[in-house]
Order: sequence, then structure tokens, then C-alpha cells
Amino acid sequence: MSAVDVIERSRIWPSAMTGRPVPGCCRFCGTAFRHRVVDLGMSPLCESFLRADQLNRMEAFYPLTVWVCENCFLVQLEEYVTGEEIFSDYAYFSSFSDSWLNHARRYVDQMIDQLGLTSENRVVEIASNDGYLLQYFVQRGIPALGIEPAANVARVAETKGVPTLVRFFGVETARDLVLGGHHADLILGNNVLAQVPDLNDFVGGLKILLAPSGVVTIEFPHLLRTIDGNQFDQVYHEHFSYFSLYAVEGIFAAHGLPIFDVEELPTHGGSIRIYARHAEDTTKEVTDRLLALREREADAGIATLGYYADFESRVRETKRKLLEFLIEAKRAGKRVVGYGAPGKGNTMLNYCGIRTDFVDFTVDRSPHKHGKFLPGTHIPIFSPEQLWEARPDYVLILPWNLKNEIMDQLAGIREWGGRFVVPIPEVTVYP
Ligand SMILES: [Zn+2]
Repeated sequence: MSAVDVIERSRIWPSAMTGRPVPGCCRFCGTAFRHRVVDLGMSPLCESFLRADQLNRMEAFYPLTVWVCENCFLVQLEEYVTGEEIFSDYAYFSSFSDSWLNHARRYVDQMIDQLGLTSENRVVEIASNDGYLLQYFVQRGIPALGIEPAANVARVAETKGVPTLVRFFGVETARDLVLGGHHADLILGNNVLAQVPDLNDFVGGLKILLAPSGVVTIEFPHLLRTIDGNQFDQVYHEHFSYFSLYAVEGIFAAHGLPIFDVEELPTHGGSIRIYARHAEDTTKEVTDRLLALREREADAGIATLGYYADFESRVRETKRKLLEFLIEAKRAGKRVVGYGAPGKGNTMLNYCGIRTDFVDFTVDRSPHKHGKFLPGTHIPIFSPEQLWEARPDYVLILPWNLKNEIMDQLAGIREWGGRFVVPIPEVTVYP
């Protein structure tokens, strides 16, 4: 019996794994929420950028309260806003980050080697965005299909030669694809699992779409890094769930897709990439690095409530430190501007109550955001050229996971004595 089989047999779930999640209950196993990890107050949807003519209107704010399920240890938010409302016209274009494109290209090369993919195989990416990744499979002659619910970004993918189905993924979409002769030898999903409100429907769809000896790879920020690294700004309404290896193994095994390998990645402040196969496929061995990560999580106590107990107090201290820095900087007459307009930035700014009283404006490389305003805080978003005109004393880097790339790009601010501020894991000023 392999270690995966042990996991499969040792957990018994209290509710049927079908049907929509019930409000106030775990979206995987149905247990009622009783243990709060952190309350980040009320926040607007982090991608709801405002036009100037919307600034005087009412904005919708929803609670950002994170729970941990005492049964399966899935860390999660309640679904206050449906996935359809959030993702149908999403403003996030993956191709605007150089380091993310490099990450995608490396993944494609690695998978082609590792799985021996040829023009006879088929790759399906779920939440394929603007074709940032599948374009590299297409360039190497491997048939690829993107599935992406946001029509605006899917159109961009089509211009790169990436066929894209504009649809949400789940059991129904998977069945339709299989009926059309579309089994997949490789199914991948990068930073999509967190965004799935109905997890059981999504993973159930993977089971249907995967070819008998196929592989699923899924990447997501690793909960162990989120908690240990104080990365509370990973929490926003678009991220319904926050996964440890422990929780995700339980979910995938319950759907007949045991995980046999895992890789740790530096992306998004520390992610993992899991590899799953059919339970019936005995050709893929459980790897040592999977066993090692399981053990590290167990040592940290990831499946105990105690592990989550002091996160909230650390988050509150981070807020006090960031405000302390900003208050001192403003008292000294310094000028502070932001860099980036990522989802995590909006959690940070709204939770801390930072508006144009502290940060004059922020800049972003994505032209789709220029001239708009951050939700809730109403900080204006300009193109990066504005930063060179303003000559700020401090640049607050909101996508701190890309801080090295950004500090390289903006090295020139040192000419006028400009410095960088990174808020996570704790407030740090870089010369
Ligand atoms: Zn649960």
C-alpha cells in the first residue's frame, strides 16, 4: 500500500461531495465554520478598479474573514460574491510580468521533457488567461486548449494562436469536452484553484477530462508560506481557499486523483506545484520530496488548530508597523508613491486604511489600469513614467513577491535618493 492510499483511506468526510457549498460551511467537506484565522475587516473586490466618474458612487464592501475547517483543515473565505460576478470581466493580464512569463516558459520546457509530450498529445490549461503559457506549447507544435471565463482576456489569447474556450471549468465543461473527443494528457492550472468556489465540482471535472495515464499539475501559494511569512495580503475575495499540501491531498484523493509529487516554487511568495494522477494509474511513484513536504507540514502542526492561533495578532502588528513608518515619513515631509496595483495591494491598503493621505498615487505597467483608481482607497493609478516626474522619496512596492524585479527596473530612483519600502513579511526599507 502506498502512502497515498493510506491518506485516501484514513479520512472520512461527513457530507456528500456533490452540490454547491453551503454558506457558513467548509466548501470541501461541509463542516460548519467555528475557527477564525484572521478578520481583515471589510474590503471591496480587489479588481474593481474605478473610473473617475464612479468615485462619488457607493462601493460594495464585503467581509474578509478567513476560517479554518476543523475537520479537513482547508483555510477559506465564505463566498460572498459569486465567481461569475468576479471573473467574467477580469482586468488581470498575466503577460505584463516578465518573471511570470519566464516561469511559464520554463514550465513548458520541463513538462515536454518530463512527460515526453509530442504533437500527438493534448494540453489543457484552466484559467489560461491571455495565453501567457500555452503560447509556448503552441510554438513547439503541441496541441493546446485554453479554458478561460473572462472573454476580454481570452480574445487576447486567440491573437497569440491559442484556441480558447470562454467558460468556467467543472464537471459539466469536462463532460462536454470529453464528448467532443478532448481527453487531456496534461491538465494544468496556475493560481486558479484558490479562485474556485465549488472545489468538488472543479476537481471532479479534472478527473473526467484527464486521459488514463495523464498528469494534472496545479500551482498555488503554499499556506505554510502564507502563514509563516505573515503574507496576509494573499487574502482577497477572489481567493476563496488557501491550501496546504495536507488539505489539497485530501481533496484530490477524495476525487480519485492522488497526488504523487510536489515541487516548491518561489512564485507568489512561495508556491507549490502538485502532480496528480488517476488512482487507477500505478505507473507513477510517490516521490521523496512529497513525503518530505508532508513531514514538514506535520512538524509545523498544519493539521492542528494551534498552528493558526497567533496569525491574527501578527497581522495586526504588521499594520501598526506600516502605519508607523508612513506617519513618520509624512511628518518628515516625505513623498510616498506606490508601485503596482495587484489584488494583494488592495487588501493591504484597505486593511491598513492607507489612502492618498499617505500614498499620492501608484503606477502599473498594465495600460488597462491607467487613469483608474484603486477600489476602496481611491488611490489613482498612472503609468510608470509618472514616477520619474514625481521623484518620490519612497516607493512602496505592493507586489512584494516581485520586489527584486521591480527594484532592478527602478534602480534609477536612487539618483535623487529615492528608496524602496516592502511591507511583507515585515516593513523593510531598501536603499
Ligand atoms: Zn472541511
